[in-house]
Amino acid sequence: MSGIKSVCVYCGSSNDADPAYIELAQELGRAIAKRGWRLVYGGGTVGLMFAAAEAAHKAGGEVLGIIPQFLQRIEGNYDDVPHIVVETMHERKKMLLDESEAFVVLPGGIGTLEEAVETLSWAKLSLHAKPMGFLSKNEYWTPFFECLEKMVEHKFAPESMLDLVFKSDDPEYTLDEFLNRFVDVG
Ligand code: AMP
Repeated sequence: MSGIKSVCVYCGSSNDADPAYIELAQELGRAIAKRGWRLVYGGGTVGLMFAAAEAAHKAGGEVLGIIPQFLQRIEGNYDDVPHIVVETMHERKKMLLDESEAFVVLPGGIGTLEEAVETLSWAKLSLHAKPMGFLSKNEYWTPFFECLEKMVEHKFAPESMLDLVFKSDDPEYTLDEFLNRFVDVG
């Protein structure tokens, strides 16, 4: 038993993203389903979020969406999979964290970055020990990793912070790495 049952996916809500990123999201969704893991995401029917969720669902995987009520109008309802409707963005983020044992960050915008940074900052504070991988094509997340390295270089963060995250362009490698990094805290 791996200990990993659910993987949370943070990613962009834009429908105008490069098709290569949409395909990557679909590949990830299928890979999560193939392992018998649940895909947990922010709910809705937009962008890479929907691409990953729909691909997992169509591959026979379990999917859970967690969406604030006010966003349902904007990001839609994916009626084919269960959703939990919450009041606030903060509740959503807490539930995404609680319902998952690992996090994938696909390409996305400011919302994706915000979710990823909060999850990383909580790991840095040892509030959780759940592995987190940045999955992209075209070096999308490389500037973010350069930013983290600069923080370490300028002594705003310990070197150990860099061990909390990794990046890859391969969904299967990303999921394998979760198994390598998972620490069972009971
Ligand atoms: P984006 O990467 O900007 O397309 O946003 C991806 C997802 O993050 C969407 O579901 C947004 O609703 C959500 N999001 C946007 N802003 C925030 C925020 N400040 N905190 C948490 N999630 C957000």
